[in-house]
Amino acid sequence: MPDIIEAGDLKKTYGPTIAVDGICFTVRKGEIFGFLGPNGAGKTTTMKMITCVSPRTSGTLRVLGMDPETNPAEIKQRLGVVPQETNLDPDFTCFGNLFYYSRYFDIPKEAAAKRADELLEFVQLKEKRDVAVDKLSGGMKRRLILARALVNNPDLLILDEPTIGLDPQARHLIWEKLRSLQAQGNTIVMSTHYLDEAARLCDRLVIMDNGKILVEGTPEELVRQHAGHEIVEVETSDDVIACLVDLKIPFEKTGDMLQIVAPTDTAREVARTVLDRCRPGRMITRPATLEDVFLKLTGRGLRE
Ligand code: ATP
Repeated sequence: MPDIIEAGDLKKTYGPTIAVDGICFTVRKGEIFGFLGPNGAGKTTTMKMITCVSPRTSGTLRVLGMDPETNPAEIKQRLGVVPQETNLDPDFTCFGNLFYYSRYFDIPKEAAAKRADELLEFVQLKEKRDVAVDKLSGGMKRRLILARALVNNPDLLILDEPTIGLDPQARHLIWEKLRSLQAQGNTIVMSTHYLDEAARLCDRLVIMDNGKILVEGTPEELVRQHAGHEIVEVETSDDVIACLVDLKIPFEKTGDMLQIVAPTDTAREVARTVLDRCRPGRMITRPATLEDVFLKLTGRGLRE
């Protein structure tokens, strides 16, 4: 089966800025594929090239088997897009936002109205059908944007930070909806800064930085390959640092804690040794996460 998206040496520059620096990736049919990376990594720019909003500078890109430069209209007909910004039409109600959006897809009025009502139900906004969008909470607006992206029954959904700024309940609802769309056969590409979200939802993901893809894989693979299995964290002090150096246990300083990466089978032993010999103020042992991978690969320094 052909891949849904294929990018080869894809590049985008804005004047002297290299936003996307020769990336290669493929998105397979039916998967949830994630783009992770610090601010300015090039995620949105990549999504804009996929959604035919911004032309590439060089390289190859095929979306649903077509080139965004030669077949943008055909691709857009089969895409659903959730942009990073909340760009609903303030002059319309929830229903109106969905109904009038259908015009871009030449959906007959009756079918469009039916679809709008179905989608309001799908994102649990039926009671808000006739409410103006400026009366909605942030979570409701994001759900309505998701519904709008589904108006044309797309094969491929592109979501740029779909749960940005939402409370845990609203995020969980969006996750549930994305999973159910995947179960219906949709392919989903999303960016997120929430690493727990990426770990839960994405079948495969890439971590980008400075326009390049640093790593690609399933969340489990990436954790196994780049973060070890268990993390022992101890409160930092000069004595503890001296003790770890003495014990020849490698560690990394992360704020007020020291991190020791340990394989699962030796983590307990390492933790016991550190506790007995170094007597740290606080110590926790926890499984390694995607966040550990992310920080290891992209560093702890602030971006932008
Ligand atoms: P964020 O997590 O903040 O959304 P991102 O990974 O989506 O970041 P992009 O928005 O793709 O990053 O930006 C990548 C780089 O390209 C940044 O250096 C950004 O300043 C630059 N850039 C993006 N859009 C433009 C533009 N229209 N004109 C000039 N530079 C741009």
